[in-house]
Amino acid sequence: MASDRNTPEFALERAATRFVRVILDDSGSRVFDYGVPEGVVVSPGCRVRVPVRTRTLLGTVLEVTNYSEARGIRMVSEVLRSDAGMNPALLKLAAWMADYYCCPLELAMRAVLPQVIRKSEMTHQQRQRVRLLQLPEEEVLAALEKKAPLQAAALRALARAGEPVSVAELARATDASHAVVRSLEKKGLVRVEMERVERDPFRNEEFVSSPALELNAEQGVVFARVCAALEPQPEGTPAPKPFLLHGVTGSGKTEIYLQAIQQVLQQGRSAIMLVPEISLTPQTVERFKSRFAAQQQEVAVLHSHLSEGERHDQWHQIRSGRARIVIGARSAVFAPLEKLGLIVVDEEHEPSYKQEESPRYHGRDIAVLRGSMERCAVLLGSATPSLESFHNVKQGKYELLQIKQRVDDKKMPFIRIMDMRNESKKTGGIISSRLMTAIEQRLAKREQSILFLNRRGFSTSLLCEKCGHVCSCPNCSVSLTFHKAANRIVCHICGHLALAPSKCPECKDPGIRHQGTGTERVEEVVQKLFPKAVVKRLDADVLQRKEAFRETLAAFRTGKIDILVGTQMIAKGLHFPNVTLVGIINADMGLHIPDFRAGERTFQLLTQVAGRAGRGDVEGEVFVQSYTPFSPSIQFARHHDFEGFWDQEISFRQEWDYPPFTHMVLLSVRSPHQARGELSAQTLAKSIAEGAPAGLFIGEPASAPLEKSHGEFRFQLVLRTRTVQRLSRHLRAVLDKLKFPEDVRVSVDVDAYQLL
Ligand code: ADP
Ligand code: ZN
Repeated sequence: MASDRNTPEFALERAATRFVRVILDDSGSRVFDYGVPEGVVVSPGCRVRVPVRTRTLLGTVLEVTNYSEARGIRMVSEVLRSDAGMNPALLKLAAWMADYYCCPLELAMRAVLPQVIRKSEMTHQQRQRVRLLQLPEEEVLAALEKKAPLQAAALRALARAGEPVSVAELARATDASHAVVRSLEKKGLVRVEMERVERDPFRNEEFVSSPALELNAEQGVVFARVCAALEPQPEGTPAPKPFLLHGVTGSGKTEIYLQAIQQVLQQGRSAIMLVPEISLTPQTVERFKSRFAAQQQEVAVLHSHLSEGERHDQWHQIRSGRARIVIGARSAVFAPLEKLGLIVVDEEHEPSYKQEESPRYHGRDIAVLRGSMERCAVLLGSATPSLESFHNVKQGKYELLQIKQRVDDKKMPFIRIMDMRNESKKTGGIISSRLMTAIEQRLAKREQSILFLNRRGFSTSLLCEKCGHVCSCPNCSVSLTFHKAANRIVCHICGHLALAPSKCPECKDPGIRHQGTGTERVEEVVQKLFPKAVVKRLDADVLQRKEAFRETLAAFRTGKIDILVGTQMIAKGLHFPNVTLVGIINADMGLHIPDFRAGERTFQLLTQVAGRAGRGDVEGEVFVQSYTPFSPSIQFARHHDFEGFWDQEISFRQEWDYPPFTHMVLLSVRSPHQARGELSAQTLAKSIAEGAPAGLFIGEPASAPLEKSHGEFRFQLVLRTRTVQRLSRHLRAVLDKLKFPEDVRVSVDVDAYQLL
């Protein structure tokens, strides 16, 4: 960037004694040096406007230095409001992410600093309020009443309110318009002020304060250990070891989180509570808001359904220190809190903590990293810990805390396995006769049941009995799911949608048959079996109506629904005392897929779903329907035997050198042209092998299990390594060097979860 020697900028350049390295937004991580004008305060993480050629662009300061080797340096045009920047600790975190996850720094920074904060246009919402300065004597008011009745009314309303009132509210109460307010202002009787309005999704809700519960003995032991780690550690000592709290469902983990956060607040510090997006229900939020309501402590909530304005305001509330507790889904791990004392990750085993687009970070792992960088306590909790975390316990990296009993010694639900191979076809093979009887009993006792199936829609495919044609997606290598209510066939990968055919599109035979079962079909079958029962369904299709989730859960809680049918949406964290029966319609669904975590996921899912039963005074019962009833994941879940599951699963992982013994890195190559994609994947594999770091396992480049999606052919290459950072740097060098055809896209997923 040569600058003209006669410009005033050049004069400034010679005057500059401080420089900043700036990474530009949306420009593929390009970094440039700029001079800082005398007297301008700037620090790493600050957002700045800088000249680039003939334009000014936004960027973030990476470093402040007192020399620069760049030539023709130009000056920073403007340092934006400092509260919109990134704090230095988070800047470090972004740099680490870029390095580890092999992604451009600028992308990592985008994850850390939300887009609405980066774009400087978004501002706080303000509103005008009218403050009463002086109320005239009663006689004066009475006279005024005749001359200017609206002015008098406004004054009286303000006096009654006893506090400033917004212009809009005043107009509603008295018909006093802006003009009326202006006249009063001229007379010196009122003053118009600007007030900031928080766009808070919960602004209309009242939270009744709920006191801390008295912890039971097991909870007490755990709490004491956590508290010890919360004691501020002297400088120079290492960060406390992260905790893994393994507590069965309903063992009072959340109560411990709440009390630990309370402790942190009392120390004048702040806390983050991560929960999976799906369990960030109104119920969870309410539990937090009401616990801290008594101390007037703001709880910020971050999740993906906030409007831009809400996100902006929640972020600033956190950044300014007005909210010291943040509860949110994975990205809340980047909440710009100062003096962080604790990060809790609830349901730490949840795959949804992994971000499935670049930067493909894992929220739990980032929590652990941020904890060690900012030397704060980290508490991971789960009823079914991930193999990764439990491995870290065995390696001495995490400290294990356990709760073996449910609160008040409530029994773990009794789990029965139904062998579906022997079921008669009288219920279409969907509901076993014993599950049917069990539902019947619950209806008679006015208790509630949950039926779980992790697949939405009516049937999973439409098959022609005559010619064997299956309706499949034109863009993806999957069959189309039939949705009966909408009478559509839908692709669950790309959303492709068509009218359901009444006869075979190939041979025109009307004998078209439904294969496989979705929640919509379960709902229909159950309703037919129990015509008097109130049956409702909860899955992503129902949720197309925004309020459906809240409404259905509220109706279920108040006993207006007898049987709730749903997908994983109902598997997590929900707490209904009157549910005494849980039916798992098809436990094999996730078991027979080409993913080494299939067994782990099935064990976790069954345990979590089963945990929804018997959370009240009556013991719960769980029916698990399966065509492979003796598979280990199902048997261990049945006996609530985490240790047993762990032992057999970890030896399988060790034998194959799979995670957690190695890190799995998945390279995906996608292209609309099959041959070009395949060739690129092969080239990639060869280039990676050249000069690869020692101990790197490189798989064969092959078609992904989902061969085609969104009209693109997919190929993948699996790498396994013990040293991720070294591999990431190697990959970056390889990818920088290779030139792929325009329509070929390559992505890197470090510690991959989505293997299909
Ligand atoms: P988890 O998070 O392990 O599933 P929760 O913290 O949600 O468990 O506790 C389950 C239920 O037990 C909740 O209704 C909670 O209010 C209640 N509970 C938790 N701890 C106690 C306690 N010490 N005394 C009484 N009730 C408790
Ligand atoms: Zn599709």
